[in-house]
Amino acid sequence: MFIGHYSVAFAVKSDQNRIPLWVLFVAVQFLDYIWATLVLLGIEKLRVIKGFTAGSMLDSYFHPYSHSLIMAMFWSGVAGIAYKPLCSWLPFAYSKSAALTIGLAVFSHWVLDLIAHPRDLAIYDNKWKVGFGLWNYRDPEFALEIALLASGIALYLARNLMPTIRKIAVVAFGVALVIVQIGDTYVPRAPLTDKATVMGVWVFYTLFVLIAFAVEKIGGRRKITAP
Ligand SMILES: [Zn+2]
Repeated sequence: MFIGHYSVAFAVKSDQNRIPLWVLFVAVQFLDYIWATLVLLGIEKLRVIKGFTAGSMLDSYFHPYSHSLIMAMFWSGVAGIAYKPLCSWLPFAYSKSAALTIGLAVFSHWVLDLIAHPRDLAIYDNKWKVGFGLWNYRDPEFALEIALLASGIALYLARNLMPTIRKIAVVAFGVALVIVQIGDTYVPRAPLTDKATVMGVWVFYTLFVLIAFAVEKIGGRRKITAP
């Protein structure tokens, strides 16, 4: 699962919880940020094998600290608890339901990974691995990613008041994410090394976070001034 994770970020943002979209973009990929960092440090292990599954080259054969069910629950709790101090530090508005929403957004990553991944997600430590393996079916997996993202963006546009120019930017951002997914799923390429792959994860995910930040600024400062 790749851009499908962002559907949750778009879907849960509301005028009530007022969580910045960029924070939700970090939350839904929080487990992958931990994973990419641990692979870079040599603590978690990854093999990149061409044709490993039809839709992905990633053989994540050891990622118990970022992607086991127990640790996914742990990190979701950590993120939920950390959200209030983060709000006072940055600073932005905090609402009561926001911490829970952040925790659920982090946990959604594991649930969506469960659909796509082959049986490489451990329940606990590196044991009892699960995964429904939709990545073995390239077109259905791709279709699910797109359907999820489109639904998430539709909810975001329906639940949040915003100027038209920002709506256009959100849709354009969605189209850009779809193009990235097309590239990832369908454009053949030579497998990179494990470290280069997770560096790419860091760079792309952070680029998306920056765009999410910028998108929510569009049309925000404009005021109607009487002559
Ligand atoms: Zn993941």
